[in-house]
Amino acid sequence: MPSDSDPIVAIATASGRGGIGVVRVSTGRAGEPAARALMLALTGQALVARHASYLPFLDGNGAVLDRGIALYFPAPHSYTGEHVLEFQGHGGPVVLQLILQRCIEAGHAFGVRVAEPGEFTRRAFLNDKLDLAQAEAVADLIEASTAAAARSASRSLSGAFSRAVHALVDDVVALRVLVEATLDFPEEDIDFLEAANARGKLAHIRAQLACALAQARQGALLRAGLSVVLAGLPNVGKSSLLNALAGAELAIVTPVAGTTRDRITQTIQIEGIPLHIIDTAGLRDAQDEVEKIGIERTWGEIARADLVLHLLDAQTGITPEDDAIATRFPAHVPVLRVFNKTDLTGEPPSVQRHQNAQRDMVCDVRLSAKTGQGLALLRAELLRLAGWQASDTQDVYLARERHLVALRAAAAHLAQADAHAQQNAHALDLFAEELRLAQHELGAITGEQTSDDLLGEIFGRFCIGK
Ligand code: GDP
Repeated sequence: MPSDSDPIVAIATASGRGGIGVVRVSTGRAGEPAARALMLALTGQALVARHASYLPFLDGNGAVLDRGIALYFPAPHSYTGEHVLEFQGHGGPVVLQLILQRCIEAGHAFGVRVAEPGEFTRRAFLNDKLDLAQAEAVADLIEASTAAAARSASRSLSGAFSRAVHALVDDVVALRVLVEATLDFPEEDIDFLEAANARGKLAHIRAQLACALAQARQGALLRAGLSVVLAGLPNVGKSSLLNALAGAELAIVTPVAGTTRDRITQTIQIEGIPLHIIDTAGLRDAQDEVEKIGIERTWGEIARADLVLHLLDAQTGITPEDDAIATRFPAHVPVLRVFNKTDLTGEPPSVQRHQNAQRDMVCDVRLSAKTGQGLALLRAELLRLAGWQASDTQDVYLARERHLVALRAAAAHLAQADAHAQQNAHALDLFAEELRLAQHELGAITGEQTSDDLLGEIFGRFCIGK
């Protein structure tokens, strides 16, 4: 395990060619000597703190590698809270690699090494520049696949989510102080719960927590999006529907990192919610081995999907071939049947929900991908099935599954505390214990309690240089 105090260096900009590229160095909180040695070696000068200087970047023989802007941020006023240097050169992979190598060579005596993924942000967390939820928001902002997801990641990064969690922790702590003070005076505990309105206070905290959870759930949806399987016979209008749904918004959608990227998946968005569409167009019985593997994988993705969109031709209605496709849908995944080409049948656009022998709920939407009639109904239905409730993404902060798990666990402990209080007004110790456990769960969100494993898991998924 590399040490958290080693001086580290990495190319901070994306790989590939670009107008500029940045090599960043963080030398530790007491790393001023290393930072000074590096700036001298690379620029031949002592840099003025937080001052942009246009300088040549030098190799070991004093030859010029590149010219650019050098910056020095002395600790603690930097991203990592440590002494930080930035060399902003031209954005070519080779020239940036040369500057990086030069930093390692010139910083050899100080043990300068290449940073691990997410290590700059890990240090920012360890040095109290960010809490854990904010550090996660850094990665989520970089990886945001829609503009709405980026905006809410930015809200989390600015601390909106952390503040909501801290407010909850403060209230739980205030109640714990009351309860634990009373625990020391057993003769008074009989009246305590009423006198201090402990249950009223608890009810208030639980209501606040429920709000935070609802918001976080929306934020998690905005982050992860929905995976939607698009199925249907050839020529029913799958590509037409996708294009119509995506509309002009496709331009600002980026694939989510880590999802399989091939010709059968693409991401569109509805009101900022990313929809990862798995197109089953190629799902015929294949002879080719490679194709077979691809098809197997697609069925695997179908089983894990949030929703199946089964496209049908409104002119023919449901044919035996459509039925054959439908029998292969996994039973637990909700199905939305879309009858397309209503411009040819003259039916008005509509939504109908009904029970079905195979599954709890089937929803039928009638529309025309060609004229766009009924598309708004489909969008609304998709959002409803996704569980999207926010009318305005401005108020949502991006959250992760980890946060939802912690919020739910905290809510369960508070519910348990209330149950103890209701059953037995003397069970103050049990009441206090549940409050303590709730506080512990909330603290894990912002990183008050963390393990090395959790930090490794979170920061290991970052890109290098972040
Ligand atoms: P896919 O094979 O399921 O992807 O189907 P396409 O999207 O390629 O559409 C097949 C044909 O149906 C094309 O000629 C489309 O122009 C036509 N089509 C698709 N949607 C509609 C619709 O809503 N109304 C009409 N009239 N034609 C449509």
